[in-house]
Formats: sequence, structure tokens, C-alpha cells
Amino acid sequence: MINSEEDRHLKLAGEADCAPEPLPTLRHSTAHLMAQAVTQIFPEVKVAIGPAIEDGFYYDFAKPAPFTPENLERIEAGMRELAKQDLPFVREEMARDKAIRFFEERGEPFKVEILRGIDAPTVSFYRQGDFVDLCRGPHVASTGAIRFFKLLSSSGAYWRGSEKNPMLQRIYGTAWLTKEELDQYLWRLEEAKKRDHRKLGRELDLFEFHDISPGAAFWLPGGMVLVRELEKFARESLDARGYQEISTPLLVNKKLWVQSGHWDHYQANMFKLEVEEEIFSLKPMNCPESTFVYRRTVRSYRDLPLRYSEMGRCHRNERSGTLTGLIRVRQFTQDDAHIYCRPDQLQAEITDLLDLVREWYGTFGLRPSYRLSTRPPDKLGTEQQWDLAEEGLHESLRANGLAYDLDKGGGAFYGPKIDIDVEDTLARQWQLATIQVDLTMLPERMECEYIDTDGQPKRPVVIHRAIFGSYERFIAILTEHFAGAFPTWLAPVQARLLPVSEKHAEYAKAVHARLRAAGIRAHLDDRNEKLGYRIREAQVHKVPYTLVVGEREAQQDTASLRPRGSDQSAVLPVDQILAGLAAEIGSRSATLTVGRSG
Ligand SMILES: [Zn+2]
Ligand SMILES: [Zn+2]
Repeated sequence: MINSEEDRHLKLAGEADCAPEPLPTLRHSTAHLMAQAVTQIFPEVKVAIGPAIEDGFYYDFAKPAPFTPENLERIEAGMRELAKQDLPFVREEMARDKAIRFFEERGEPFKVEILRGIDAPTVSFYRQGDFVDLCRGPHVASTGAIRFFKLLSSSGAYWRGSEKNPMLQRIYGTAWLTKEELDQYLWRLEEAKKRDHRKLGRELDLFEFHDISPGAAFWLPGGMVLVRELEKFARESLDARGYQEISTPLLVNKKLWVQSGHWDHYQANMFKLEVEEEIFSLKPMNCPESTFVYRRTVRSYRDLPLRYSEMGRCHRNERSGTLTGLIRVRQFTQDDAHIYCRPDQLQAEITDLLDLVREWYGTFGLRPSYRLSTRPPDKLGTEQQWDLAEEGLHESLRANGLAYDLDKGGGAFYGPKIDIDVEDTLARQWQLATIQVDLTMLPERMECEYIDTDGQPKRPVVIHRAIFGSYERFIAILTEHFAGAFPTWLAPVQARLLPVSEKHAEYAKAVHARLRAAGIRAHLDDRNEKLGYRIREAQVHKVPYTLVVGEREAQQDTASLRPRGSDQSAVLPVDQILAGLAAEIGSRSATLTVGRSG
């Protein structure tokens, strides 16, 4: 999104600078308003570009020192003043050569550079008050229409995104059509900060990062519980669907990557090393190696489909400056699978995969949306192969009753694909699953075959798919989605047991042992601290259930149970608590069910 709007601005090749819908138009206009205020307050700055982006806008300025928070406040006040003046946005046209001179005289080198790259006899300008910008619009009628906005932050950004170019100062802002929408958005931003998985990862003892291995997580015991529970969930589901799990080596001879084509196209992303005078690399993906398992024996049409799943640990050489928590890493584990099937089985396999996607995401309360990408202009394989594959995907989406967007020409060169985004509780979109049909890459380059009914060798179709994407990224998303308050089945500690005082320590130990024997991750907190303090700490750690035991509980074999987020507790027999927890965990319930009245 950001890139496409930025590209559009730089190319100035289309019809307009921003999408003609109300929100992008408003945001783009707000960027002009901000540039006007900035040039008034800081007459020495040079203006670059200011596109609308998702949820807001930005504008880049050449300025020796960064903008301070006080600067942003002053600029925002200036914008409000200019908005009050209700200055109309007036369109003007000028010959390109004249426009270049115009901006040269104004000392605006970035506008001159943009103009030199434009292949058009005339260009358009928009003027509001004393501020003129090279632009194709559209804009709102006047600055008075810009009412609900806020400047958010400022950071350095290279001109045209390249380190070879000067560093500019970018100011981000947001603008909305109503006050309610603005307030809601600002609330979501605040909430997202609180939920940042890097922050929660530390606070909840889930994972951390160290400079000795950039982009690779150190999993702490709590985070490892998340990994193991997700693996267990995935394995149970895949076993029931006829998958077979494999595991292939991490360190692989260059020969394989030459054959698969990665050496030519993907080398820059691979970690290479020399072993006994031969070049090896850490695998950046699992695809080519899975074919060794497929090809180890002659396959017949009756053997297919073969569904090989792999928890594949991969390494990709991402630049250190781009690494971000668990979202952008160098080492990750894909929940990968490669399905080898006959062309006539493709549709049924895709239908089954879409069902799997809904089942998995539904468990976490994530709402999926679907996008089908079809044949690009330069593709491998025949039109007939593509017709069959694309029709299979359309039909599978329809058979599952799913609405989907179409990205014509957006497929990979070796086959069409379905990409799946999810929406989390803060209405943020994350791209997660991808289901790629491979008509030619693995089948032909890696020489996969099966003997068909006519006794002739044929190429299978391969489906590449990951549902979580990677465990790392999925855990980052879940941590933010749940704000660290995981459902009980996922929670690192499911129950905390608090004796009221030392006198009840023996009983507490006995209950703790029973919980553990029932497979419940229980933690006994018998520290010599006030009960209130220990209860609060259990809440801070977002433990689903707190069990307090004192004199009465010890006599009656009960515990006072308080579910997370509730200020009520209920005294229940320990057996009932055990059975309730086991049922809730066993069903992978998204909500806490034990000790809730009604
Ligand atoms: Zn504009
Ligand atoms: Zn693959």
C-alpha cells in the first residue's frame, strides 16, 4: 500500500495522485495542508512527496535536523489555523518546461527531479493560499473540509527509498471523515502499542532477542509452551487429514539450489558456507528437498495424493535494519506442506485446504479473507494446464461458499495461488496463509513423475501451502491479537495456586500435584508475600485461573477460583475444577468457561 502510493507519486504516470475515494482524497489533501504549514514555519525546508497511505498520509521534507515532538505540535496548530481560513484547492496547468523553471526558481530540487522524469507536455498544480504543489489531485474543495486529523510521528526516510539518496524527514499523520473514526483510530494505535509482541514477549517471559543472533528468537519456557501447543494442534489436525510428516536437512549442497533455480534467483537471501571445499547453504525454503522423499520410489496414480508436512526450519538473509521482533526474522519455522496430486485431484485438495484454513483460524477467532491470483504474462506451462488449475481454485472457493478478491495476473510464474489474510481484534490485516499451485517448478525442474493409468509417466501437480505461515510470525500475531491473555489451552501457565498463608501450604501442594497429574500447567505461588500482591501478579501475568486456598477450602477439598478478567470468585470442589479445566483445554475453547455463573 505504502509503496504503491509512493510509486504512483514518483511516476506520475496515472490519472490521479490518490484514489478518488473520499478517504484517500481527504488524506492526500491533509498532506498538502501539512506541507503548507511546514513551509510557513520552516521556510528553509525543501518539499518532496506526500501521498495518502493506509489510515493516513505522510510528507517528506529535506531538513538538516529531525522534527521534534514540539515541532509537530506547532505544525499541527498551524494546520488548524490554515484549515480555519477555508482556502480553496485551485487546479492550474503549466507546460512541463515552464514548471521545471518554476520549481528551480523556488529552489525545490525534488520537484524538479520528479518533473524531469515525467513524459508529458503539461503538468498540473494545486494551489491553496500561498502554497503550490505539483500534483494531479484529486483534493477536497477547500482546507475547511479537513477537520479530523492528527500528526503522529516523524522519522528519517531516504529519498525514493534508496540509501544512495539524501535522508529526508518524514512526518506521518492520520485524517478521518468523522471525529468518532479519528478517536477510534487513535485508540487502536494506543492499544497496538500496549499489545506490541516484543514488549509482551519480555513481560510475559515468552521470547527475547540478543545481538549475538540478530533476527532469531531465544524461546523462553513460556514461549516454548506456545510453540509446542501450536505444533500439537497442527499435528493432530494433519494426522486426521492424511498428512505424513517429514523432516529435511538444514544444510544443503549448492547443487540442489542450482537445479531448483534458487541459486539464480534467490542467492542473495541465502546464508552460504564452505564445507570441504564445496558450497553449502542453509535452506531458505523446504520445497526442493521434499521432492527427494517423493522421488525415492516409483509412484503410481494410485499412490496420489501424497501430503508431506514439515515443520521446516528455514534461514533467510534479511538485512539487519529490517528485522522486527518475530515478524521479520532470519530464522523461522514454517508449518509447511507439499501435496503431490494428479491434475484431476487438484480441486478436491484445494477444497480440503480451504476447510482446514477455516478450522484453524476459527480456533483463534481470526477472520480470514481470500484473494485468488491468476496467470501472469510470463509464465511456464500451457494455457490448458493453467485453465484447469485456475478453474479448480475458483470452484473450490465457491464450493466452500467463500467470497474472494481476484488479482488478475498476480500468480507466480509456475502456477496460480490463493493468499489468505486475517483480521485481528484491532481490525488489522495480516497476510498469513498461502496456497500455491505448482504446475511446473518442482514437477519439472526436480523431475517428479507418477505412472498413470495408461502406463505412461506423467508430472504430478504440487501444492505448496503454509497455514500459520511461520510459527514465529503467527505467535507474534496471536500475542497481539489476545494482548497476551491467551486462551487456557495455549496459556503458558493455566492456573496459579495461592495458599492464603503458610498454614495452608500443605493443602496447596496437594492440590498443585493433582492439577499437574491431570496435565494442567499449574504454578504454585507460596512465596511469603501478601495474598493481594500475589493475586495482582497472577493478573499481570494474565494467568487464566487463580485458585486461592485457605482454612475452609482445606477442610472441604475446595478452592476459591477466579477466572482472568473477573472480580468474582467461586468456591468449587477441586474435582469439579479439574474436570472443568480438562474440558475447556481439551476443546481448545477460546473463552474461559470454568467458574462462570450461568
Ligand atoms: Zn495533491
Ligand atoms: Zn514449497
